[in-house]
Amino acid sequence: MDFSTRLIHWYDLNGRSLPWRDTRDPYHIWISEIILQQTRMDQGLSYYLRFMERFPDVFQLAAATEEQVLRIWQGLGYYSRARNLHRAAKEVAEHYGGSLPESSAELVRLRGIGPYTAAAIASMAFGEAVPAVDGNVYRVLSRIFAVDESIDTSRGKNLIRELAMNLIPDDRPGAFNQALMDFGSMVCRPSAPLCQSCMFQHECLARQRNSVGKYPVRSLKKTARERYFNYFLFRGTDHEGFPVFFVQQRTGNDIWKNMYEFPLLEATHAMPEEEVFRHPWWNTLGMHPGELLIIRPVVEQKHQLTHQTIHARFYQAEVNRHAMGVLQNHFEITRPDLFDDLPKPRLVDRLYRVVDFC
Ligand code: SF4
Repeated sequence: MDFSTRLIHWYDLNGRSLPWRDTRDPYHIWISEIILQQTRMDQGLSYYLRFMERFPDVFQLAAATEEQVLRIWQGLGYYSRARNLHRAAKEVAEHYGGSLPESSAELVRLRGIGPYTAAAIASMAFGEAVPAVDGNVYRVLSRIFAVDESIDTSRGKNLIRELAMNLIPDDRPGAFNQALMDFGSMVCRPSAPLCQSCMFQHECLARQRNSVGKYPVRSLKKTARERYFNYFLFRGTDHEGFPVFFVQQRTGNDIWKNMYEFPLLEATHAMPEEEVFRHPWWNTLGMHPGELLIIRPVVEQKHQLTHQTIHARFYQAEVNRHAMGVLQNHFEITRPDLFDDLPKPRLVDRLYRVVDFC
């Protein structure tokens, strides 16, 4: 048996049973692929089920507001995925009659669909023999064939892609892509691969050379950007005496675009409290921290994103009537029950949960 036949045979016996694998419906496969980018399978599965329940077809997704989509996405991170998915759904509904294009070359023109996702959809839904090359494929093939070219370079990437192109069978390309995915996460894992029980252990060049840990070869090391967020929960009461506080919607080309957060003073370093309270940010708001009745740091949290580390400090402040008026010039006012329904990053949600509104 050749490599692909053995791999697919292994997959038929051991592959994970997942709802989007029991269908060739391109919409289902598309949603699952977008959710599973940068997301663990167990976490992604529950989001997939919720998403499909709320938006069972492309027309319902296209008809939703961005806030409704972000609300379902909340907690998954990488919110640009949800925004792009939503925009692409509108495009499919308006320009393709609700049916996804059938080739990877056309799919890749839709927003948020890169070469990997296009190949996954085209192979699984439409039977196109195109490999879906991701980190799993780089790792597995670079180990089995001892590819010494760095996968950070286009030459290294192209080498792996060519290998995959030569291996993918015409009859079951979708199964081949899913098999490589499962094999990479269940057997040829990033750390502690199960070489002793691996069906390729006798052919695998990395194993033969006792150098499994060397592959995939990488030349670049990315360092995470450090960011320091000082969030303020400015809380007061409305004219009926009910608790209210201020939020803002993130804009610009940055993380968490269009999600809601508390008023934010971002810094390039961890500022001691005295520095926070002397910061010119207060002048731009037109107020002085002394106008707040109480201000105290409530909690600190470190939040890790792929290329960024957010060090968040969360202050809680009681504001008087005058400060309420000033803050309304800069931020939106909300109530706890309304804030629950707004899309917000996981970090903000975690910070919010420590607030006691009693
Ligand atoms: S022998 Fe080890 S390194 Fe080689 S393919 Fe199998 S699990 Fe991966």
